[in-house]
Amino acid sequence: MWAVPESTGMRKEIFLKIQSVNGFKDILPDSTARWRRVEEAARRVFARFGMREIRTPVLEKTELFVRSIGEATDVVEKEMYTFADKGISMRPEATASILRAFIEHGLHVRQPVHRLYTIGPMFRHERPQKGRLRQFHQLDAEIIGANEPYVDAELIAMGRMFLDELGLAASLEINSLGCHSCRPPYKAALVRFLEERADGLCGDCRRRLHANPLRALDCKNPGCRALVLEAPSLLDNLCPECGRHFQEVGEALDAMGIAFCVNRFMVRGLDYYTRTTFEFLTGDLGAQAAVGAGGRYDGLIEELGGPPLAGIGFAMGLERVLLLLEQKEKETGSPEEGMDLFLAAPGQEALVSCLTLAHFLRAKGMRVAMDYSGRGLKGQLKQAARSGARYTLIAGEEEWARGEAVLRDMSGGGQRPFSLAGGLEERYRRLAGLLQGAEDGPDENCTAPPCQG
Ligand SMILES: [Zn+2]
Ligand SMILES: [Zn+2]
Repeated sequence: MWAVPESTGMRKEIFLKIQSVNGFKDILPDSTARWRRVEEAARRVFARFGMREIRTPVLEKTELFVRSIGEATDVVEKEMYTFADKGISMRPEATASILRAFIEHGLHVRQPVHRLYTIGPMFRHERPQKGRLRQFHQLDAEIIGANEPYVDAELIAMGRMFLDELGLAASLEINSLGCHSCRPPYKAALVRFLEERADGLCGDCRRRLHANPLRALDCKNPGCRALVLEAPSLLDNLCPECGRHFQEVGEALDAMGIAFCVNRFMVRGLDYYTRTTFEFLTGDLGAQAAVGAGGRYDGLIEELGGPPLAGIGFAMGLERVLLLLEQKEKETGSPEEGMDLFLAAPGQEALVSCLTLAHFLRAKGMRVAMDYSGRGLKGQLKQAARSGARYTLIAGEEEWARGEAVLRDMSGGGQRPFSLAGGLEERYRRLAGLLQGAEDGPDENCTAPPCQG
């Protein structure tokens, strides 16, 4: 039971509109269809590659991200939503969670290679700036348990095919970050190179010069960019195994006809990457931006307490994919979505007959809209147009009494009589046949009077 204090003054308060949290955005009905098309394209393409879906919680122990992503990364240092007293954080990316689940449930015991993907929201407390969301969505794909270079090529090819499926252009860049044997000596050489030129580095690069020197290679600061052009390249310092791996990835991509270029400055922000890294880039969103990116992370599963298995994955930023798709559809138009049929019942008298028919048609799989206001035919037809229905069946009291309604094609405006005789099943069959037939061409024998509306 609620005890309501008498003098709360609640009723006198002016209630302010409550708005969403900064950086957390609603996805409204006008765009959810596009979201679904993107997600469906991913599921369709991923299935061709034997990928299976996994869904993990949005909250994980903070330790998981510290150990996988790395302590000296922007993500862990400043961007995670962490409940400090509970030692848990909202996931800033999906790979760590997928691997945690993979290890926890011992999935590797059942089969050697796993192809997993997930689609969902991620959370990063970034400075709010144009287009940067704090809840954003990613499509994440991982192949665990295989270290062959052709696996890298296959995963990259899948990312490419997903973008192709949506008709989106993006260029592909690849690089190698070496392994635990060839990267440390390279890192040491890079640190020496940067230390000698520390005065020319930006504050961020100077600060993480020892913890994460590779980041200087992809720093956006013009001073750093000019400076690293002279820096030693990891590609020239790969161990023989890493060199061969990188070459075979390139050969496999060539064989599949997938164009790419090598970018020796691509390092990715996360510590765990080894060997192949790659990015899909687009210039269609203003500045050059990554739509998706990924890489190999051999050794990470073991570091997280799992078996010594190799892994490679990528993540696509769905907000960016959506923006690209929206841009494309402005030019090419978007696929039709809307109702199959609007059931217009002018006046109150025919409402129940129409509702009964609508319910039956919906149960048969038709998308049927109705308006229950009892407004006149003109208003009903306006509603019908707004609903995006392809056809309108006009069936007011008069039509039911006569036993014949009017079926109107909402795109061309042509119409034909429709008999209301028989039961619901008969009406459904006739209607389905007419809707199908109407698509093949206009009915030459239509004798219905033109409708006033
Ligand atoms: Zn190596
Ligand atoms: Zn810098």
